Amino acid sequence: MEGGISRAVAEELDAADPLAAFRERFVITDPETIYLDGNSLGRLPAATPELLREVVEEGWGGGLVRSWGDWIDWGARLGDRLAEGVLGARPGEVVVSDSTSVNLYKLAAAALDAAPGRGTVLMDAEDFPTNRYVLQGLAEQRGLRLRRLASDLDGGLDPEVLRAALDGDVALVVLSLVSYRSGALADMAAVNALARAAGARVLWDLSHAAGAVPVELAATGAELAVGCTYKYLNGGPGSPAFLYVRRELHEVLRQPVWGWFGQREQFAMGPEYDPVASIGRFLVSTPPLLSLAAIDPALAVVEEAGVARIRAKGLLLGRLADALADDWLAPLGFRPASPRPPELRGSHLSLHHPEAWRICQTLAAEAKVVCDYRTPDRLRIGPSPLYTRFTEVWDALDRLREVAARGAYLSRPPGLARVT
Ligand SMILES: *Cc1c(COP(=O)(O)O)cnc(C)c1O
Repeated sequence: MEGGISRAVAEELDAADPLAAFRERFVITDPETIYLDGNSLGRLPAATPELLREVVEEGWGGGLVRSWGDWIDWGARLGDRLAEGVLGARPGEVVVSDSTSVNLYKLAAAALDAAPGRGTVLMDAEDFPTNRYVLQGLAEQRGLRLRRLASDLDGGLDPEVLRAALDGDVALVVLSLVSYRSGALADMAAVNALARAAGARVLWDLSHAAGAVPVELAATGAELAVGCTYKYLNGGPGSPAFLYVRRELHEVLRQPVWGWFGQREQFAMGPEYDPVASIGRFLVSTPPLLSLAAIDPALAVVEEAGVARIRAKGLLLGRLADALADDWLAPLGFRPASPRPPELRGSHLSLHHPEAWRICQTLAAEAKVVCDYRTPDRLRIGPSPLYTRFTEVWDALDRLREVAARGAYLSRPPGLARVT
């Protein structure tokens, strides 16, 4: 093929990749399909089916209700592993429970309750929809002012915009560490410091960051965070989310859903809600045990690889994608829609093209490349470092340029699907 980086360069990167062998730790049913959507749903770890079989047959089938004696602490146990291996938090500061949206609601409400004199919530106007809706609901229910900070679709929120908005009425700032569309990476330490100086708390959404970029919740002074386990952490469709509350806040904050899993001496079944003093007070109810169990083998792979090495490979994958996009795709009407260099973003990147939706569909249907479309006109490419080869990025962008150059997408329907 003419021009640009040769495939041999990608082959050399694969040969030198210290994480190359981790690909075998995942189920890959069709090696010809290039999966660049691990930031939406991570691949199935090879160890997961057997572990789930055990939990189902021995735990559920054999142990029945007696198995809860062990299962009951799995949310806390997995939380501690996430704290240590992924989130840079201290033991007892992270727990796995509920969904990201629900945890966001719980922690935002808890933070607002603890700041009675303040009436403003700040968020990024381009944040992930569920975050915007949850905050809109909270603001309406409580008569608070929700300020949606204008941010650049491709570049993320300018810290100066945040600084200017942080007045003495702000109770809470909600931000994604990695933007779901552009991948823009925020500076956690700087934002925490800005907010602290203004007397506001920050609630971080780490959904697109956890398992992709190093996160240092304790060292950066972060107070609150939530995030998904089914993206870069490969916990499986709908696997429960995590939440983090800084130790010093455990007794200061109370979440709004007073369920029995947060109760002191849960099985004493006491008359009044009296939550434990630890992170357990942010739990509500019986976890979806099978989905929770699937996080265990998934996390083992991430722990073994280490987030630092995952990030190092992610940066190289990103650099290759950027270079190929410039060489091959810019002449075909694509424009980068993510910060550069890759150090300024998480592990995914977006490209702008007016026909992004139809191109995305064509790539999957005719070229065996799975990535995704994000409104209004972005093709989002997420090469998850644990199982994506450099040659796959090369091949995927090669197939993409072919689809675009041939106009193959023009015969596809323009209407969006139910799920994009
Ligand atoms: C993926 C994602 C979510 C998902 O929320 P659910 O409650 O799991 O549906 C939330 N926030 C962000 C920023 C995300 O990227």
